[in-house]
Amino acid sequence: ENGYLRRGQCMSDNGLIQKDRRHLIHSVLSWGEHERRGATILTSGDGVWLTDGDGNRLLDAFSGLWCVNIGYGQQSVVAAAAEQMARLPYATNYFHFASESAVELAARLAERAPGDLDHVFFTQGGSDAVDTAIRLIRYYFNVTGRPEKKHMIAVDRGYHGSSAAGSGITGLAVFHTHFDAPVATQHHIPTAWPYRFDGSDADLIAASVRHLRAKVAEIGPDRVAAFFAEPVVGSGGVIVPPDGWFRAMRDTCAELDIVFVADEVITGFGRTGPMFGSAYDGVAPDVMTLAKGLTSGYVPMGATLLSDRLYRAIVDASGKAVIGHGQTYSGHPVSAAVGLEVLRLYEEGGIIANGQASGAHLASALTALSDHPLVGDVRSRGLLACIELVTDKVAKTRPDPALGLPDALARCGFERRVLFRAFGDAMIGLAPPLISTIDEIDEMVARVKSTLDDMLAIPAIREAL
Ligand code: PMP
Repeated sequence: ENGYLRRGQCMSDNGLIQKDRRHLIHSVLSWGEHERRGATILTSGDGVWLTDGDGNRLLDAFSGLWCVNIGYGQQSVVAAAAEQMARLPYATNYFHFASESAVELAARLAERAPGDLDHVFFTQGGSDAVDTAIRLIRYYFNVTGRPEKKHMIAVDRGYHGSSAAGSGITGLAVFHTHFDAPVATQHHIPTAWPYRFDGSDADLIAASVRHLRAKVAEIGPDRVAAFFAEPVVGSGGVIVPPDGWFRAMRDTCAELDIVFVADEVITGFGRTGPMFGSAYDGVAPDVMTLAKGLTSGYVPMGATLLSDRLYRAIVDASGKAVIGHGQTYSGHPVSAAVGLEVLRLYEEGGIIANGQASGAHLASALTALSDHPLVGDVRSRGLLACIELVTDKVAKTRPDPALGLPDALARCGFERRVLFRAFGDAMIGLAPPLISTIDEIDEMVARVKSTLDDMLAIPAIREAL
């Protein structure tokens, strides 16, 4: 707490902290708490390091918000953006217009995406990519003569954005409360959470399939349009399902005539190892949503990929009707030029391969934390990891919220100069940049370990153990 206030006082020299308090609304936090604490203003970045307004160097073990996969300061990306901006800063993709970079990026994504995901609608981020999926799935069923297929299902720890429609597909309560979400056509089933399931992996997969079938039966088999899932739950606490879970859900959806949407906003672009998280289980979804790693966060961009089957059905059924879906910045040429260069760095620059090596190292480095008195579970896939804290390892007791653990973790992590995600329910999320070296991964894990040790120095937490 003192850390925040001290930073606030220091930064207030140039007035930014006060201006932030008065004028800038932040994402996903208590507005009142923020007025009290003030912002941490980040001013520059290089590789896996960030610098704040007070000159602190912070090790970014979360890639910004799971997006800066290529790390900060990649000058070839800056050059690609500048070149495109100087030549053609904007081109609409309304009607029959396009830009070179948008066309090229769509083609390259279609080439790399699994199955027949050949058709790309660009958005500005993940939330509107999910919204685009929702709109196009509705359109598809309406235009192909099955207008009763309106209902959508997701897992209760899933995160699918905070837009008016997508926030109800999201399962997390904080995105629902006082926002009148979910609406009546949005439903949730339990998340496949190995640590919190009593049984084998096969049992857990079978339970998920049963939950999905039961929900479909409850809604009415002809009324369910789509199932949304992340290959690994991200914002809900980096929950890694058993191998084969995604495949089983996909197959069940195919059998039940439900569109299977892979939300790969986090898992896309090497985050879990392969280029796309769906590939881990050999899954070809009907629809895929992307963002974050698509441009590595250098500029905003997301995408919704449609299978040739869905796309073709829409074309055939809609004939000459105008399909009223569009955004001023869909396929923005500067974002697309950045996307092309980022994709080149992933592949020709070896960043995906580096991420795979660093991911394997992260998994082994994290096992060293399992013995820590506060650590109940350590899980990861690639460079996506979670440390779940408990106050009783045998009973797997979640820490009492009154202990304020998430807050203490964020505060002490900052003092240790490492940035991670302190989830509300006392879990530490890690998503290091894919460029991280083995030494940098070790340094991140060492600082996280120190942060965990700091927790033991807080009397109330020590006593709760
Ligand atoms: N889907 C998933 C799986 C996400 O993780 C996120 C963002 N964390 C979104 C959708 C929404 O993306 P955005 O914040 O870019 O709107």
